[in-house]
Amino acid sequence: MKKAVYPGTFDPITFGHLDIIERAAKVVDELIIGILANSKKKIPLFTIEERLHMLQESTKQFSNISIQVFDGMTVDLARKNGARLIIRGLRAVTDFESELQISQANQQLDSSIDTMFFTTSLEYAFLSSAIVKEMASYGTDISLFVPKPVITMFSQKFPDLVS
Ligand code: ADP
Repeated sequence: MKKAVYPGTFDPITFGHLDIIERAAKVVDELIIGILANSKKKIPLFTIEERLHMLQESTKQFSNISIQVFDGMTVDLARKNGARLIIRGLRAVTDFESELQISQANQQLDSSIDTMFFTTSLEYAFLSSAIVKEMASYGTDISLFVPKPVITMFSQKFPDLVS
């Protein structure tokens, strides 16, 4: 049984994330999406409950996916679930350096766990949660970039912002 974890902030989930999820779900038996609760990088816009809700609603079509909230190291999430693979997405060269560093650190922490990278589809190469949040803050239509449950969440949270 091939299990993998796909960790991220998912603040919010975009079609770029979904593209990676869809492709990863085809090569593993079970994919566990891990929502990082306390990202040290940035303060999330959406709460854990909101991010979880958007992910659940956006991944209903997949039968081999589950979602967990976690805190701390990805290798610990993988170990806890008996997974030997970590999935990450690569958009551009800029992602490469930090992703390489993270995967090598994880390799040092647990050599039995490998990182598998999926390169993004070209149409989503520019797409990030940060860009979507910026667009939404100006009332720009984001329907090309995020699944419906994310648009609903934006409009509930910021009724004046999203058109
Ligand atoms: P993190 O804060 O851990 O980078 P993100 O939610 O921003 O969390 O991203 C989670 C993973 O999804 C990362 O591996 C990231 O490179 C990947 N990812 C994000 N956006 C895209 C995209 N448009 N195409 C492909 N992969 C993406």
